Amino acid sequence: MQDTRLWFPYAQMKHLEVNYEVDTGEGPYIQFTNGMRLLDATCSWWCMIHGYRHPDITQAIHEQADKLAHVMLGGLKNRPAVELANKLVEITPEGLNHVFFSDSGSVGMEVAMKMAVQYWQNQGRTEKAKLASLIKAYHGDTTGCMSVCDPEEGMHSLFSGLLPTQHFAPAPEAGFDAIAEEVTQDIANLRALFEQHHQEIAGFIVEPLLQAAGGLNMYSPIYLQEARKLCDEFEILFIFDEVATGFGRTGKLFAADHAGITPDIMVLSKGLTGGYIGHAATVANDRVFDGFWDDDAGKAFMHGPTFMGNPLACAVALKSIEVFERDDYLGKIAQLNQVLQQELLSFKHPEVKDTRVLGATAVIEVHDAASLKDVQDFAISQGVWLRPFGRFLYTMPPYIITEDELKQITSTMKSWFTEK
Ligand SMILES: *Cc1c(COP(=O)(O)O)cnc(C)c1O
Repeated sequence: MQDTRLWFPYAQMKHLEVNYEVDTGEGPYIQFTNGMRLLDATCSWWCMIHGYRHPDITQAIHEQADKLAHVMLGGLKNRPAVELANKLVEITPEGLNHVFFSDSGSVGMEVAMKMAVQYWQNQGRTEKAKLASLIKAYHGDTTGCMSVCDPEEGMHSLFSGLLPTQHFAPAPEAGFDAIAEEVTQDIANLRALFEQHHQEIAGFIVEPLLQAAGGLNMYSPIYLQEARKLCDEFEILFIFDEVATGFGRTGKLFAADHAGITPDIMVLSKGLTGGYIGHAATVANDRVFDGFWDDDAGKAFMHGPTFMGNPLACAVALKSIEVFERDDYLGKIAQLNQVLQQELLSFKHPEVKDTRVLGATAVIEVHDAASLKDVQDFAISQGVWLRPFGRFLYTMPPYIITEDELKQITSTMKSWFTEK
């Protein structure tokens, strides 16, 4: 029987059996106390982009821990936080010039939502106090975040009594490579929502190009370009949740780079620290920042998590970005993308509805979730750690994985259907 003192996420504890204990890791592999070793196809919920025990990153942790593990950001600055803010301003899309730190993706999103609402409050536009997002969205598990996740599929309908009601546009359907006219309907849907409700919408939130935990829906950069125009037309702040897409996952450093546009607010987390320690950044443009700039203390932004700007996390993030640039991760991701396309896009099976690839992300979508029952055990027998959800069997590998290792993952995904 399971030891019930440790409560696991997203699982009925009564039926959960966690048999394997992770001891250590090495590159793309997780190593268990019983000697087993598995290739991690999802790099621990997509954050361990350098894989495990990367020597430069663990060294950065050691060095910073020796110096200063933590100090409050309330009225005090520290060198790693200052340098990371500078670096993020440099690498994020042109115009994002102000960085607010927090400790996780969900909190980074809460910060973005509060920022958008207070921005309008500060201008006396008190009616703009709601948010808009997309069906199939996932933005985190805290209360504000749950309210902008897909209201039906988003795991959160249980809490609807607690949550504020927000506005939703249909999930974009035109795929990543769609031509402009294929995106027309998606944009018309968004325009219809804005026309009806713009007076009360403070911000429109999207996971740009890749709706991740809501079903790996991949959509067109044209949608983002057109949505940018609509947000300007209807006076709505455009908010990018790049917690999953940031740091290379879609093939460019940020998903925004595919569209060549700048959101008003962008949120980064998961890949920010290469997964080595939790942290997040909510990055705003001048327009948003200037909305708080005033002699009136009451217009200051009202948020401040204990661990914001934590020196350990910021030092790790700086090293992570340095390694990302130094070792040409975008080049590696382009190669991984080729392998994923070759190995998965032509895969056909009666149980398979669709296969999709974007950057270093690939999914096999099945018609019926029952098709994926026991796939995890099968993958373990093949030396691979997969963690499918719903109808989605996917991989988001660490970028340091070799082509052969990646093929081991894709062939495991395919042979689940062909060999069972
Ligand atoms: C994971 C995720 C979050 C939440 O981040 P946590 O660090 O788990 O709180 C928010 N948005 C997106 C797009 C994510 O993938």
